[in-house]
Amino acid sequence: MAQFTSLEAALKHFFGYDSFRSGQKQIIEHALNKRDSLTIMPTGGGKSLCFQLPALLRSGLTIVVSPLIALMQDQVDALKDNGIGATFLNSTLNIEEARSRQIAILQGKIKLLYVAPERLLNPGFGEFLERIAGKVGISAIAIDEAHCVSEWGHDFRPEYRRLQTLRQRFPQTPIQALTATATKRVQQDIIQQLNLHQPQIHIASFNRTNIHYEVKTKDRTIYRQLLQNIRTESGSGIVYCLSRRSVEEVALKLQHDGIEALPYHAGLSDKQRSINQTRFLRDDIRVIVATIAFGMGINKPDVRFVYHYDLPRSLENFYQESGRAGRDGEPAKSILFFSLGDLKKIDFLIEQKSNEAEQRISRQQLRQVVDYAEGTDCRRTIILRYFGERYRGNCGKCDNCLNPKPIEDWTIEAQKFLSCVARCREKFGAMHVIDVLRGSRKQKIQQYGHHLLSTYGIGKDKTADQWKMLARSLLHQGLVAESNDGYRILKLNKASWEILRKQRSVEIAVSKPDKQRAVASNSRKAEAEILFDRLRMLRKQIADRQSVPPYVIFADSSLKLMAQVRPTTLDSFANLSGINQYKTQQYGESFISTIREFTAQQKLPTPLPSGSQMTTLQLHQQGLSAAEIAKERGMAVGTINTHLCELIEMNQPVALNKLVTANKQQAIIQTIEKLGDNLLKPLKEHLGEEYSYEEIRLVRGWWRSQQK
Ligand code: ADP
Ligand code: ZN
Repeated sequence: MAQFTSLEAALKHFFGYDSFRSGQKQIIEHALNKRDSLTIMPTGGGKSLCFQLPALLRSGLTIVVSPLIALMQDQVDALKDNGIGATFLNSTLNIEEARSRQIAILQGKIKLLYVAPERLLNPGFGEFLERIAGKVGISAIAIDEAHCVSEWGHDFRPEYRRLQTLRQRFPQTPIQALTATATKRVQQDIIQQLNLHQPQIHIASFNRTNIHYEVKTKDRTIYRQLLQNIRTESGSGIVYCLSRRSVEEVALKLQHDGIEALPYHAGLSDKQRSINQTRFLRDDIRVIVATIAFGMGINKPDVRFVYHYDLPRSLENFYQESGRAGRDGEPAKSILFFSLGDLKKIDFLIEQKSNEAEQRISRQQLRQVVDYAEGTDCRRTIILRYFGERYRGNCGKCDNCLNPKPIEDWTIEAQKFLSCVARCREKFGAMHVIDVLRGSRKQKIQQYGHHLLSTYGIGKDKTADQWKMLARSLLHQGLVAESNDGYRILKLNKASWEILRKQRSVEIAVSKPDKQRAVASNSRKAEAEILFDRLRMLRKQIADRQSVPPYVIFADSSLKLMAQVRPTTLDSFANLSGINQYKTQQYGESFISTIREFTAQQKLPTPLPSGSQMTTLQLHQQGLSAAEIAKERGMAVGTINTHLCELIEMNQPVALNKLVTANKQQAIIQTIEKLGDNLLKPLKEHLGEEYSYEEIRLVRGWWRSQQK
């Protein structure tokens, strides 16, 4: 620690980041105070840093227990690429390789050692640990995926239970347990099983603020919708399907339509699966179409979208699966395609379970997914409520918040529908009832004589989909019942009769059919985007040469910053967030020369914003206010406001309308035109109390940018 003035300085030095994410700093401080801790953070929250940074600041070796070989490899690659001494020991290594790593460890060249739990517990390894303790010291033990210790978690591993022998062997060594699973029961289990001493418990919010949530109606156009969404999206994505068959089918169609996609499911050989996975990690392909078998142990931080082509089985599954998007904190998207037909498919699967209690639980879980899909509340609110968190109001980043569905009075339609159910003698499902209402000429209708019913053809004014929407809503509001025998025959209940007797009105949230989104315009892409693409290509070349995934070289966010700031010296390059000295030495020259070349070609002007200004801009674009940015960055509000003013002057995309109302802007501009822009004070005096210096400065920045 001595060589750094602050934890932030150490963070920048080793990882290149400018600031800690919420919770990280406290956890790290506790670790440095040698206290036990339990950290619960959603996937992508930044757990690894919480044990990695302390490991680098203490003398001795930190042992990291991790159950997944692929993840181990990934983390070690990423650390090494930051110039940090890290290694792993697991069953994939041959004897020589393992021995040379052990020597490096005993020579003190390694700060972080990743091991699988089973290895940690074999006797020979125990002796090795004693030798490490004697020679270089063991500074801490970090236990990743700590929920594996609990039978109540979703991934119990018996070998985790035996980790308490570590505590017995090294009673003075602090233990840090980390997991993304949140139930109270599992938390207690972890503390007890691992014998943690008065641990500091940190539970982060489960809100994934960078993920945009959306639900779309799944109908015949589903594939076209999917394709169009993938085409308008940039970067990598995962499409989750329920069955192997639909995985194969969708992957094939996408390939046919020119999308680089590969399938992933349990029916493929281990080898093929691992090839497809690696190609996805390395950006050889853009899209992986997968069953839920894909994801455990996938640590690709730059997944930009996760689509659920089929319904997930529970909201917890949905959360974990959609949570594989945007682990790097950059904007990402989750779309769930929802249809009642899917519900039937899963219902059928649940039917197959022999255990009645299991069936009941599965049904309930499915219900929660449907509530999410059909809900008209903020999606984030629904998800977080599921995890016991309260989230208030409008998140601005889900379809329901962005375009709230109108509530309409459909009492008359409900009366038509229910009376048709009654005339069909409560012996048919919704589809048949709708056919009758819409006056279908299907054989089945004639056969039952239903073309003679008084309700035949009285519903031609609405489409079949609209009637289905009504049926669904009636069911979910409990205004009609259905049989439980798998045929879903509609039955009238007490509420239905009240509606028919005009004692009750019916309101439903009406979703309008998605308008086909305009295909992304092929107007000239902004310069930053073109440069971003070039830098991505360069990153891919370097990554391929080193046989690592591209995100190990630089995160998307760092490339974006490079493209916006266009640093042309090594110093300014090293200043960007996410880039440390080591990476600058390794890659700085190549990236800078690509940037120079581009700038020259495009005849772009300098000056450009500094790295710090760009960080402010990024946070501003994520919707944070100046005060929030200041808090996040540990800077004064005034500094942030100055950044914003200067950014505006440099013509950077600052949303002035969010900062100053249109009326005020107009008044300030008029005053500037009258009095000139040199001095703020006379402007302020002329405008009066209601106008703050900040507002005037911001608008003046804009005015100046227009004069150039
Ligand atoms: P988790 O293990 O909680 O799922 P990771 O530790 O893999 O999450 O972190 C997710 C991503 O966030 C990684 O790409 C990591 O480099 C990045 N990250 C972590 N901490 C920070 C930070 N303070 N600033 C910026 N990025 C960070
Ligand atoms: Zn919302």
